[in-house]
Amino acid sequence: MSAAFFEEARAVVPMVTGEACAPYESDILEMRGKAAAVALPSSREEVQRLVQVAYRHRVTLVPQGNRTGLVGGAVADASGRQCTVSFSRMSRVRAFSAVNRSITVESGLRLSELNRFAEERDLHFPIDIGADPTVGGLLATNAGGSRLLKYGDVRRNVLGLEVVLPDAAGTVLDMARPLRKNNTGLDLKQLFVGGNGTLGIVTAASLALARVEKSRLSMFAAFRDYESAAEALPEFESAFGELLGSFEIMAADALRAVLEAFPALSMPLSPTCAPCFALIEVASAMPGLGAMFEQRGLETLQALSADGRVVDAALGAADRFWRIRDSLPLAAVREAVPLTFDVSFSRDALVPFLRDLGGWLDRTHPRLRRYEFGHFGDGGCHVIVAIPHACAADYPSMRQIALRSAIYERVMAHGGSFSAEHGLGPINMAYYRKLTSPSERATSAAVQTALDPQHVVGRCRYF
Ligand SMILES: Cc1cc2nc3c(=O)[nH]c(=O)nc-3n(C[C@H](O)[C@H](O)[C@H](O)COP(=O)(O)OP(=O)(O)OC[C@H]3O[C@@H](n4cnc5c(N)ncnc54)[C@H](O)[C@@H]3O)c2cc1C
Repeated sequence: MSAAFFEEARAVVPMVTGEACAPYESDILEMRGKAAAVALPSSREEVQRLVQVAYRHRVTLVPQGNRTGLVGGAVADASGRQCTVSFSRMSRVRAFSAVNRSITVESGLRLSELNRFAEERDLHFPIDIGADPTVGGLLATNAGGSRLLKYGDVRRNVLGLEVVLPDAAGTVLDMARPLRKNNTGLDLKQLFVGGNGTLGIVTAASLALARVEKSRLSMFAAFRDYESAAEALPEFESAFGELLGSFEIMAADALRAVLEAFPALSMPLSPTCAPCFALIEVASAMPGLGAMFEQRGLETLQALSADGRVVDAALGAADRFWRIRDSLPLAAVREAVPLTFDVSFSRDALVPFLRDLGGWLDRTHPRLRRYEFGHFGDGGCHVIVAIPHACAADYPSMRQIALRSAIYERVMAHGGSFSAEHGLGPINMAYYRKLTSPSERATSAAVQTALDPQHVVGRCRYF
């Protein structure tokens, strides 16, 4: 990066360099890079002027939220030539409407702050994630979370966006009106949702809010096998309709790992009583439905246990159940080298995939451990293949890459997605190039070239 860029950029936006960049140079996965500088804008105008300078000097800007992304997209690469743009100083609430159930906020506002503001007004942003991302990060990754079944992903809850385009002028697309219906042309905002920090820099968003849930039933159920859990899902949907919020699967091995890692967490059911478990949650904003939920939940569980599909179940204690579920990723990566997978399928293809994967891994890699858990209700699943330290020497990086590729080939063979909700970034771009069709890549690349011909923004190139 030229000194001229730095001098010009510093004149339009606060910048830090050198040691002061360190906090912005790694993410939650410890992906590390070297930023030439970090820009800390506090307004859309500062972002716009920064883009103009970056365009002139052909410097790439890497937008950064709270660095909880799981594909490495928020940190500058190792070249020392990219400039990170942190949104930590852009976290204002610009507008709120109780009548419209909407809020317009700057990109750096964190989910916890957004929900603190909304919950004081009996509302919430219904994306449920075991981390505290920013609105900009949520949008760029089109995050899913544990209640996608009921509320959809971020895309479904975005009403409008304000975006600075990476062109010579830093053109502002002012599309942040909180409209639930708007068909006056192409729905351009959706280009930037799930854009993985490319195409443009999101400076503000209008989001739809939902009523805080007042009635809730949480169930922790043990299933005879994955097939039984898959068959139970439509039974719960039929019992509770659109009120079924979560259906999170947890393999018994994953629960055992939680018990070993966090012995203070008390399990509602013994992890040895069944091969897989589910955290099932039903909720409504209508108060006073708890007793009805409980009765219907018991009836559904009893019907499923009559033929042995449900082995055991516990009701209540939502906080305790969710602590167990949220501890799974950490517990599974202890004392091993983890290969993590965020995959999704048509719901009827998920169990066949897990069976195929399990059988193959048992045959070809018997010393590896395998943990399956996640958002079964929406066809999603996280798989962690853990290489115990004792056999890590047998799995050098080339063999790990071959193993990951072989698993992704299986995902594709079952009609799945190799990145269900974490998006694209340096960690999985090579698989994007390998596993996405040439026509999809060419179309995405054409869009990117039209909006960002000089590669001013983001880590991903869709070629
Ligand atoms: C414990 C844990 C649990 C998680 N659970 C889930 C889950 O259930 N579902 C799920 O979907 N994800 C989950 N995640 C992943 C993560 O929280 C999401 O990807 C989140 O949306 C990232 O937000 P962030 O602010 O941390 O963004 P960052 O990590 O800082 O950035 C992510 C991407 O967004 C881009 N970006 C950030 N701000 C902007 C902006 N203003 N304009 C344009 N691009 C921008 C970055 O360039 C980068 O490409 C989890 C992560 C952790 C650590």
